[in-house]
Amino acid sequence: MNKLASSDPEAEAIVEFYRTVSTGALVQRADEVCRSIHGNKVWLRGLVEFSNYCSMDCQYCGIRHSNTNVERYRLSPEQIVNLTVQGYEAGLRTFVLQGGEDPWFTADRISFILDQIKTKTRGMAAVTLSLGLRPRSVFAQWKAAGADRYLMRFETSDPELHRRLRCGATLERRLEALEDLRDCGYEVGSGYLVGLPGESEETRIANALLCREKKFDMVGIGPFIPHPETPLGDAPQQPLELALRATALVRLLLPLANMPATTAAGSLDKQGREKMMAAGANVLMPNITPEDFKKNYLLYPNKICLDESGFECINCLDIRTHLVRKNIDYARGDSLSWSPEP
Ligand code: SAM
Ligand code: SF4
Repeated sequence: MNKLASSDPEAEAIVEFYRTVSTGALVQRADEVCRSIHGNKVWLRGLVEFSNYCSMDCQYCGIRHSNTNVERYRLSPEQIVNLTVQGYEAGLRTFVLQGGEDPWFTADRISFILDQIKTKTRGMAAVTLSLGLRPRSVFAQWKAAGADRYLMRFETSDPELHRRLRCGATLERRLEALEDLRDCGYEVGSGYLVGLPGESEETRIANALLCREKKFDMVGIGPFIPHPETPLGDAPQQPLELALRATALVRLLLPLANMPATTAAGSLDKQGREKMMAAGANVLMPNITPEDFKKNYLLYPNKICLDESGFECINCLDIRTHLVRKNIDYARGDSLSWSPEP
């Protein structure tokens, strides 16, 4: 029995349910819980993949530093701001600025971008950052400049596996940074990859329990898709079902959290995002990065929606959402578990 589960009887019962029921029954229960709390709403986030430069070398990632086949790009601060303003005018109210750990984007450059977005959207748009590990003082600076949320997956809760796959970076430091974000007043998002080589069913359960223990406001779960130009290129592709089970388990453990139906799920299976939404996910992230750039942000092969603009994607997402009897909502959609007072 996992240490946390034994000190949390409700979590223990949920894990027992997870272990014993079929995927269909698990997903159905998670869907019921999701609809009872979030209704049929699915929040939209405009995703901007602003840089594929990265100083890190995570073994699973297609844009890792050592992959010399990647055509590198970075959007200028002005391009990033203009994209979010365009998204705002199209009705989007939340933007996720995501990139590799790119030192060109200094603390001050990101602050400038945040300030511009907030000014040009009259403070009406929520901004989520997702650019990896930075010192606590930088997280505080960005919060003061207008950042609302931060996404940083812990990737796996197994400390040894984490160190191995992230080339020496420790789980402990990642979790410390997530605490820093919480202390700075961010809405905190994390999550993990499902199907990594070296992971077991017990790792997957521990991953979900860690999300509960840390009370994350947002949890992103993505199936790991092996990229041929990485050291894990020959790893087997695990079925999407593992990620669906993980989504359902986290929904039961953290009913209030916002959970995206990830692009990786849609890339692995044509109906992957619909299946995720039917398993408890309540967020979609149309990718509004210009087509010329997003084709080079390949974390994994066969990524979907590379040829359309994110604005065209919204129509397609609207149809997909209806297929699972849900409705897109353009509002900021703060996490129900988050409060401005830490
Ligand atoms: N660099 C930042 C970081 O690592 O937190 C943010 C960008 S990173 C590309 C976003 C996420 O991509 C990671 O958290 C990881 O889970 C996911 N990712 C990387 N390689 C992947 C792969 N091969 N399959 C699926 N997801 C992948
Ligand atoms: Fe860089 Fe993030 Fe990819 Fe790791 S997962 S190599 S930090 S972009």
